Amino acid sequence: MNLSRYHAKRDFSRTREPKGRSGRVPRAAPGGQFVIQKHAASRLHYDFRLEISGVLKSWAVPKGIPTEKGDKRLAIAVEDHPVEYGSFEGIIPPGSYGAGTVMLWDTGAFESLEDTPAAAVRKGKLVLHLAGGKLNGHWTLVRMKPGQFGRENSWLLIKTEETVRSISARADDCSAVSGRTMKQIAAGSKRPTRKRAPSSQAVFSGASAGG
Ligand code: MN
Repeated sequence: MNLSRYHAKRDFSRTREPKGRSGRVPRAAPGGQFVIQKHAASRLHYDFRLEISGVLKSWAVPKGIPTEKGDKRLAIAVEDHPVEYGSFEGIIPPGSYGAGTVMLWDTGAFESLEDTPAAAVRKGKLVLHLAGGKLNGHWTLVRMKPGQFGRENSWLLIKTEETVRSISARADDCSAVSGRTMKQIAAGSKRPTRKRAPSSQAVFSGASAGG
């Protein structure tokens, strides 16, 4: 577990993103919490994060989460994030790393079906079952061979096993936790005009967005 890359990229006197605690005890569980954050940075993307060995293993998925069996999306492995990041929704201030609006797009539990999560990451193949508010079903993350796509941090997020209902535009723009739209989050609005997503799940227990 190492958050040094995460810390090096951020100035915590400017951003309200969590600093995170170090020294959490890694656990060899078959799964854990997952969170997907919709992030309107210089380019919109979805940050796919799995709680593994005391951190959030993270991938940036520019084109969003596939729902049709066999669909593949590029997923770029990025630095580990602290578990507390799984509760972060808000604004990363201009001039800061990743400046823009962050929505808690979906949260829930994941299970690694073939190996322990940590072993699966090392192997470069995670066969996952997700039980979230928006996403329920099987997805697989596969690391591409170095050179295959030019970047050694390139993975594919593949919809496996079954086609699931595609995400409606309304659901895509609704926080799983606060019910807010991207616009409302960007405006710092506390009161959503829409009801929260019907099947959304609670934010990570025990985690706080504080530094
Ligand atoms: Mn991001």
